[in-house]
Amino acid sequence: GEIRIGLGSCCVARGSGKLEAAISDCLEDTGIKAKVKHVGCVGMCYQTPLMEIVMPGGESFMYNRVMPEDARDIILRHFKPTRIVSRLSRAFSNLLDKAVLPDSTAGIEQYPMNMREKQVSDFLGAQKNIVTQHCGFLDPLDIDEYIRLGGFDALKKCLTGLNPEGIIDQITGSGLRGRGGGGFAAGTKWSLVKAAEGKEKYIICNGDEGDPGAFMDRMLMESYPYRIIEGLVIAAFAVGASKGFFYIRSEYPLATDRMRKALAMCRQRELIGENILGTGFNLELDIFPGAGAFVCGEETALIASIEGQRGLPRLRPPYPASSGLWGKPTLINNVETYANVAWIISRGPGEFSKLGTAKSSGTKVFSLAGKIRRGGLIEVPMGITIRRIVEDIGGGIADGKSFKAVQIGGPSGGCIPADMADTPVDFESLTHAGAIMGSGGLVVMDETDCMVDIARYFLEFTQNQSCGKCTFCRVGTRRMLDILDDLCCGRGKPGDIERLEELAVKIKQTSICALGGTAPNPVLSTIAHFRDEYEAHINGKC
Ligand code: SF4
Repeated sequence: GEIRIGLGSCCVARGSGKLEAAISDCLEDTGIKAKVKHVGCVGMCYQTPLMEIVMPGGESFMYNRVMPEDARDIILRHFKPTRIVSRLSRAFSNLLDKAVLPDSTAGIEQYPMNMREKQVSDFLGAQKNIVTQHCGFLDPLDIDEYIRLGGFDALKKCLTGLNPEGIIDQITGSGLRGRGGGGFAAGTKWSLVKAAEGKEKYIICNGDEGDPGAFMDRMLMESYPYRIIEGLVIAAFAVGASKGFFYIRSEYPLATDRMRKALAMCRQRELIGENILGTGFNLELDIFPGAGAFVCGEETALIASIEGQRGLPRLRPPYPASSGLWGKPTLINNVETYANVAWIISRGPGEFSKLGTAKSSGTKVFSLAGKIRRGGLIEVPMGITIRRIVEDIGGGIADGKSFKAVQIGGPSGGCIPADMADTPVDFESLTHAGAIMGSGGLVVMDETDCMVDIARYFLEFTQNQSCGKCTFCRVGTRRMLDILDDLCCGRGKPGDIERLEELAVKIKQTSICALGGTAPNPVLSTIAHFRDEYEAHINGKC
């Protein structure tokens, strides 16, 4: 048999490290021969720590919110001890006594997951796993398992059977768009880098995820490091890059550690480095830890940061595709973008473009957070509606409250009210609704949330993170924040809404990077959809 234990950050934060120690103690005490297997994030962060028992015949039992003291009971329900058990804890039946299912927000209790089958199938059923393929099964750092499951086949196919143009054609044909926020066509970007003059080219993976409420890239790096590396090596071969960096924010120590270990393993297997798979293709890869500045997620600031300069965005053009790292042509894509590549090459671009909508193909990973019953990491086909995400996957609003709005795209995005919940989640529809796809943060709000306060929260974040280079981004956002502070403290004045709108337009028009260009979005979208709340603040009614 096998005991699988989730060791992503969400599980670790809820004590899966201690749970693993308790499992090992129990196996040692009882002489039970079961393999303990580490797996990445299953996405059900609301149920962590997760523990799955897989019997020799393949039957599986999932347990949720397992505390270390419960490990022994659970193991002894399924396996016979071969030694005298010295520390038997409470009877197994205690678990079954707890079979009444509360909301996810209720206290920490543990239940056999198969008693919650409906919730689990609702949560997982509407999802489509491409970048999260084999979730809950794959050991993030077991390269042999990744290879057994078809890993690196796409890379082999590219290096031995396809030329760079053929690879770029497949990416273009799939319709893959950058998942970091901008949504630029990946195939177009790759061909620009390939066509750029110069022998020396670079490749960068942007893992500087910093939006409040977003944890998609962190989870992908923690759980699928080989898939990301494989996608990036394919991209490097296609564009002709020979050196690359994974830029990962230093607040993600587990993700950094796993990527570092995975790179070392790939080097050992000649999947990176000199003469990859004996084909003569060379690629050196390294990790560059970010220092916590949100603005370094912007590609030109990120490049400046790797070069050892202050992380300040610069005017474009020239774009990194022609003049990036140290002035050389550079391909820069987000973690999730690279994680899609091997699947597209293996299954063919047509399989990918069949998913989603005409202009937004494939899937998108979202971190579902806020006032939701089942929060976690989800991967859904593009075009799914906000309602399906909130109600079917997320199980609706916690504590029986009503759904008010969802903030999509982090501090650069916007609020979409509940009465627009049938908006499809794709690049065009979200922009049309006043939000943006962003990198994939999705924060749900209920009837008790004040939308002026929400706008203030996001603007405070971007104001703090402004690098200060552009006057309106530096001073204009400060002025907007002063007005929002006044509104939230009951000092609002007639004309404040108009002043906010005027400043927002100027900031958008004069900012040289997307941080300033999108910073007013949460304010503008809440004014558009919840103007009455702003007026109520001005009129002293709340
Ligand atoms: Fe810096 Fe803001 Fe200008 Fe971007 S828009 S360069 S963050 S001041």
